[in-house]
Amino acid sequence: MSNYSKEKLHHALKHFFGYDEFRLTQLPIIESVLDGEDALAIMPTGAGKSICYQLPAMLLPGITIVVSPLIALMKDQVDALQANGINGAFLNSSQSTDEQRRIIQEAQRGNIKLLYIAPERIPANSEAFFDFLRKLNPSLFAIDEAHCISSWGHDFRPEYLKLAVLKKQFPGTPVIALTASADKVTQKDIVEKLALSHPKIYISSFNRPNIHYFIQPKRDAFRHILEYVKKHKDDSGIIYALSRASTEDIAGRLHEAGIKAAHYHAGMDAGERSRVQEAFQRDEYRVIVATIAFGMGIDKSNVRFVIHHDVSKNIEGYYQETGRAGRDGLKSDAILYYSFGDIMKLRKFAQIEDNPQQSAISQKKLQLMQEYCEHEGCRRQYLMQYFGEQFPAYCGSCDYCLSSLEEKDATVSAQKLLSAIVRTGERYGAGYIIDFLRGSASEKINPAHKDLKTYGIGKDLKREEWQWMVQQLLYHRFMDKTDDQYATLKLNEKSWKILKGESQLKLVMKKEKVETAQEEELEYDRELLKQLKSLRLDMADREHVPAYNIVADTSLVELAIYLPENFEELKHITGFGDYKISRYGANFLKVIQQYAKEHNLPSRIQFKAPKREKREKTTKTSSKPATSSTQNATLSMYRDGLSITEIAAQRKLSTITIEGHLAAFIGTGDLDISRFVSNSKLEQILSVIKSTGQTAAIKPIKDLLSDEFSYGEIRMAMEHFKRVNG
Ligand code: ADP
Ligand code: ZN
Repeated sequence: MSNYSKEKLHHALKHFFGYDEFRLTQLPIIESVLDGEDALAIMPTGAGKSICYQLPAMLLPGITIVVSPLIALMKDQVDALQANGINGAFLNSSQSTDEQRRIIQEAQRGNIKLLYIAPERIPANSEAFFDFLRKLNPSLFAIDEAHCISSWGHDFRPEYLKLAVLKKQFPGTPVIALTASADKVTQKDIVEKLALSHPKIYISSFNRPNIHYFIQPKRDAFRHILEYVKKHKDDSGIIYALSRASTEDIAGRLHEAGIKAAHYHAGMDAGERSRVQEAFQRDEYRVIVATIAFGMGIDKSNVRFVIHHDVSKNIEGYYQETGRAGRDGLKSDAILYYSFGDIMKLRKFAQIEDNPQQSAISQKKLQLMQEYCEHEGCRRQYLMQYFGEQFPAYCGSCDYCLSSLEEKDATVSAQKLLSAIVRTGERYGAGYIIDFLRGSASEKINPAHKDLKTYGIGKDLKREEWQWMVQQLLYHRFMDKTDDQYATLKLNEKSWKILKGESQLKLVMKKEKVETAQEEELEYDRELLKQLKSLRLDMADREHVPAYNIVADTSLVELAIYLPENFEELKHITGFGDYKISRYGANFLKVIQQYAKEHNLPSRIQFKAPKREKREKTTKTSSKPATSSTQNATLSMYRDGLSITEIAAQRKLSTITIEGHLAAFIGTGDLDISRFVSNSKLEQILSVIKSTGQTAAIKPIKDLLSDEFSYGEIRMAMEHFKRVNG
């Protein structure tokens, strides 16, 4: 067991970095590193790999050596450390020999806690290098981007092979290898090549909950993009396009429209590229329009949107690019404009001459990208399954889930369809029946049929809607289809019940798709946030560091919400460690105090108890989950004796929504489930909930139950379950 209690580690996290909670697998990784064990940590980009060695570095007696191939990122990391008052330094080929000598001396004097080294700095004669390291007496080695050591990985770097003897030279010093992407083979290869001894392997979920995924048809894409960028006028983002020419074109048009935008691609010279990149980091450009070349060295945490103007070649690339949004954990959008034409174009590129094997792989990957774009279901679920993770069918934050499903009574349409089949003698396939229903003038329609009463009674629905209806009826077994080549539609027992009005058909249909994420109700004052941002920019300029190095956007938003009054209260704000409080605290407090005085606002810091305390509190008092005013309105109408349908009609909401409101009160214990769901049904639903072990998504539960169970009933049963089982 570690010598460091969890309490102590939490305290250190807050003290050095200003964070309240560890993320994902950070805590167990840090504990095992401090126990002197080797570890391999696999975490998605932006999840917070650095803390896994930076925090141990602060607690261990000697120096921590970090090997990282990304020179551009090194400076940023070290700047970020220094912004927290931590003594970090780096050695790479961008420095003069004098500069390097100075840093080495500092390190040997024990004045540096973290030293970043580029692999090319490791001399060919590794004896000399290991001698040098031995003099530093390192406590820990961190190998960042560890997949670079494996020829299986997607970014093999031969220099990394020099690290293979590290463990032999320093058998007693723990090594932590970190990477954002490594499949099983690569993981094994990393462990073997680095000769890690009995390493623990930590794999975090690849899900990025704060990124919202949208796929939109590519029509008038530029106009949409411009609208979006204008609407999100305080945000910065990246727009990816396939060709160099189109990056220049789009950036040019944005620029003309008054947006601070620039283009970036591999055809520009290195100086120009790094100028653009740095200007973006410093928020001088708000939007970068780039080919995929952009982003490798980008560590800008407040990228609020990533837009794909064109379809990506494969899901790996797409996911990596969207992953550059929202590294600070705040809500961000990933929007892709999809057209089949793009797929056709990419198919040609995917054909690699004289390499049928590689071509086949690229084609397959492109096909899956197309499938993702055309997928009629939760985008996040598709992505997670692509990367080998299970995920429920509903995330609530992609275009599919946000388009909110609605249950509608489709009995009348079903009756029209079924009677058309009966009238024409159950001898036709779906195509004919739909033409008949829509009153097609086509000669293919039997003239005798044109005299039937049912001819043309289905003009109210579009062709595609009828096709969908046919599929639904077949799917729910409300009619049958013959197996032969004519696929004739036939009625069955259930069909007759519908025709006679003995049973109803309820179908879950999608409402209109939501275009992009809706603005959330913000509880902070935008004006104050603006002032805080501008103060931060001043400080950043003075110190020549990117603005988010002072403090992240998340922290500014918290300041604007909780309005801390003094240093003590400032401690509760995420990102304010002791060092940052002493360095920047007074300036921020001054702006907040001034604003609060002008607007007569009190501090709201009592609403921000640290998460851990909050959790303890809730378990002790087990307070009721809060309900909203719209839910309360429904409850009071229900108590006045109105039925669910009546409430829905009066409030102009769907019955599903009303049932959802009432379900919330089943969750609080104000309403009893027995009023809504029979005992036998409840039992069946509960057994399915238990078997799936989840109480978040309704759709998968519904899929496992027969049609008699409505969404409302399942929702209510879930709330009941949660209440009873805590
Ligand atoms: P990566 O895994 O890509 O190396 P980083 O280590 O650069 O990610 O971390 C991404 C961002 O998340 C940084 O801004 C970092 O400060 C922040 N971060 C890391 N851990 C935490 C935490 N426990 N709480 C809040 N923010 C964190
Ligand atoms: Zn979803």
